[in-house]
Amino acid sequence: MSQNKKIGLITSGGDSPGMNACVRAVVRAAKINEIDVCGYYRGFDGVLDNDFIDLDVTSVAQIIQRGGTILKTARCSRFFEKEYRTLAFENLKQNNIDALVVIGGDGSFTGAKILTQEHGLPMIGIPGTIDNDLFGTDFTIGYDTAINTVVEAVDKIRDTAMSHGRVFVVEVMGRDAGFIALRSGIAVGAEAILVPETKTYIEHLLERIGKRRASKGSAIVIVSEGDDFGNADKVVEAIKERYENLDVKLTRLGHIQRGGNPSAMDRVLASFLGAGAIDAFLENKFGIMIGMQNKKVVHVPLEKAIKHHQDIDENLLKLAEMLSI
Ligand code: ATP
Repeated sequence: MSQNKKIGLITSGGDSPGMNACVRAVVRAAKINEIDVCGYYRGFDGVLDNDFIDLDVTSVAQIIQRGGTILKTARCSRFFEKEYRTLAFENLKQNNIDALVVIGGDGSFTGAKILTQEHGLPMIGIPGTIDNDLFGTDFTIGYDTAINTVVEAVDKIRDTAMSHGRVFVVEVMGRDAGFIALRSGIAVGAEAILVPETKTYIEHLLERIGKRRASKGSAIVIVSEGDDFGNADKVVEAIKERYENLDVKLTRLGHIQRGGNPSAMDRVLASFLGAGAIDAFLENKFGIMIGMQNKKVVHVPLEKAIKHHQDIDENLLKLAEMLSI
């Protein structure tokens, strides 16, 4: 039997482009350091069902460019129950796992943290979510690809919006966070960007639409699904109510935002963070999230990453407002 140290690796919660690049980095950095890696399928579900694969250098070849996650992912309701977490711990111990590396969002980190608290199994988190809502890292894996996907789609919508002088309300992902909406909205030159973090003044938006209408211009309104005024349906309703004859269309980009080949930025970020997790393991640093701040890999105490909310960038908000006149 191998005397090597061994880590368990899962991708958990919503999938995000770049998770595969991160799996590859974890496995390769581990192997160079003679650490074995056991990949569990479907997040915590795989741990509970002993559904795993021993990963080696070749099993992660040709995946850096692929979206989704070869380990698959899941939201595991059983993991909320203590008895199942005990089962997870027993399975991991049986498999000689020394630590669990979790690529996911704050929910996945919370689950793993509770496992540590209850059973002492060390864990390390890597931020993999398109939402970019985790405190302690400038960017999360998948965010850059997601906003590029939005930009590509909205550029196409803009062509037809302009030709017909239409208003398009485009709903993007973000139930609690407006990071996708804000950055992509600036990049496409949206006439308005509605995010959950700030109050939406619908009158202000309607006036702006009225001006566009008077000049026969088109307009793009980017709406986070969790905006305080309501989702894109509500916004369309309000515009139609005010301007009866205006041609207003709704596009909900939906899950397209989760898919696709990861951008170069995401691949590189994922590679740094994956390798950073193995460095942390070698230094016996656990209960942390590996993040990237000002181009440096950092260790963020899990408490902070989970409890603190990443604030929306005020400068970006101001920029968006100033340029969307
Ligand atoms: P995303 O940001 O993409 O939604 P996430 O990791 O935050 O990713 P969640 O659905 O919140 O996604 O959590 C993923 C899984 O983590 C849950 O399905 C559950 O198995 C586990 N989990 C989350 N919160 C807890 C908790 N409080 N106790 C135990 N397990 C949890």
